[in-house]
Amino acid sequence: MSARDGDCIVIKPSGVEYDKMKVNDMVVLDLDGNKIEGKYNPSSDTPTHLELYKAFPKIKGITHTHSSHATSFAQAGCEIEALGATHADYFYGNIPITRNLDDCEVVENYEKNTGKAIIETFTNIDYMAIPGVLIRSHGVFAWGKSASDSVIPFEERIEIVRNIKYVDAAIPQEELDKFKMWEKLHFDVLFVGDDWFNAPSWKEMEAKFNEVDVRIVYFPYTKGTSSTILNDTLIKLREQ
Ligand SMILES: [Zn+2]
Repeated sequence: MSARDGDCIVIKPSGVEYDKMKVNDMVVLDLDGNKIEGKYNPSSDTPTHLELYKAFPKIKGITHTHSSHATSFAQAGCEIEALGATHADYFYGNIPITRNLDDCEVVENYEKNTGKAIIETFTNIDYMAIPGVLIRSHGVFAWGKSASDSVIPFEERIEIVRNIKYVDAAIPQEELDKFKMWEKLHFDVLFVGDDWFNAPSWKEMEAKFNEVDVRIVYFPYTKGTSSTILNDTLIKLREQ
């Protein structure tokens, strides 16, 4: 997450847990990425943020997450069609998806080239009318007139996903026992964060799913990235 003020941006530091993060831990940079203030290194996706601020002058805040519902679309390579009213409250049209980066672009500078791919995606799209994008095989970038404006509340996000044609049901994770969910819903494929991969408790679950022919797809999950923590951090920042 980052915010822009004139020719400076403030971005979250790299490697600091959200629940321990303080205002003084934030890193201040100029638009070329030179550090002006801060004891930590800036977030690893800083080059993407810088590209976006330079190309989209009206935006003042950017949020990047791997939130599970949106990431499943990014993984599947599908844009999110505008089919519901809640979606229309935030996005005046489909939420687009970036193209695949080629191997050179990935190796040379994945983060910067991700920024360029987003800008390319918005060649014929008004970035203020569609304030967000899916990054193919990765996650989401969303932006707005302020940092808090770039965060869409959980209930609203789940409502957007609930209203689209690719999804039969959007269910908040109320308990970790996914098998109980299966007994209710009988799904064929389960998407889960790769932090579960090879976890002892999960292995048992995997065996159970194997028996009932459920395929498990793991997608990248970043530790410490959660909309709840982001929101709490924002509230704390506003109070200070
Ligand atoms: Zn990411």
